[in-house]
Amino acid sequence: MIITVTLNPAIDMAYELDTLQLDSTNRIKKVEKTAGGKGLNVSRVLHQIGDDMMALGFAGGHTGKAIVEQLTDLGIQNDFTTIDGETRNCISVMHDGQQTELLEKGPTISQSEQNEFINTFIKHAQHADVIVLSGSLSDGLPTNFYAQLLERVSQHKVVVDTSNQALLECLKGAVKPFAIKPNLDELSHLFNRKVEITELPTLLVENEWLKEIPLVCVSLGGDGAMVKYNHNVYRVRIPKITVVSPTGSGDSVVAGLASGLQRGYAIEEWLQHAMVLGMLNAQQSKTGYVNLDNYNDLKEKITVEKIG
Ligand code: ADP
Repeated sequence: MIITVTLNPAIDMAYELDTLQLDSTNRIKKVEKTAGGKGLNVSRVLHQIGDDMMALGFAGGHTGKAIVEQLTDLGIQNDFTTIDGETRNCISVMHDGQQTELLEKGPTISQSEQNEFINTFIKHAQHADVIVLSGSLSDGLPTNFYAQLLERVSQHKVVVDTSNQALLECLKGAVKPFAIKPNLDELSHLFNRKVEITELPTLLVENEWLKEIPLVCVSLGGDGAMVKYNHNVYRVRIPKITVVSPTGSGDSVVAGLASGLQRGYAIEEWLQHAMVLGMLNAQQSKTGYVNLDNYNDLKEKITVEKIG
């Protein structure tokens, strides 16, 4: 089983307008409301590809209840820790060919809520092989919260997809993640300088933090990925596709990495599996959705070359 963790989920509201009139009333023609947050995108993709999984996180108030209901309606197993605060709404407005985002910060998690979550996490981890920790931390959680969770499940394979201080704490922590999936921006933030594709083959095997992580998958959008697995470096190239919305593609790759790990795929098939899910998500307007009809066609066009 795969466990996903979403500490700061949201109800994502996508509004569609022809034109956004500032300082005026805008009547919305089309609204879509989905349970959002990186870990929930991962969960939906895992569920669609038929992998056994359980979604954990914090949920509170009406929005929290709506998230849990939506997951349950989709048939996604979940056990969210109930909190006093209200889970956030995030609004994205498509207008004038642009996308404007209004993101609430989310609730503050108390110490007793943290303790309750950790107990739930440890309970379910006993039945899991792979764990996915993704997204930012909610207010009230220490920046080493993911690093603390890693220490509680040192026998498990954990995929971490986060950024900034939360990622740094995991890389420096006593128990390392099994896999991480930064993009170039996230790596650049980590190293406080612009990281280029050309330096990745050396950086991935020589950097003191990265070399300790068995699988580092640097996703490169339409350019595929550069991956380090143990001591080898692989260049993953993908075919050109028509992109509808790449939002959530990184999360879909994370779902593929966790799934391939759970299924015991060899590295080539594992990376093809992860990339194809990212691409299938990019071909959809919805976030964290994949149409598996095109899976085989696309997969055989993805090449994995060992370059170091
Ligand atoms: P993130 O959302 O984390 O920044 P990326 O943008 O690197 O992640 O995208 C993750 C994966 O999704 C890519 O490795 C690729 O498989 C797929 N993908 C994203 N954008 C495109 C695109 N424009 N064309 C084809 N595939 C894409």
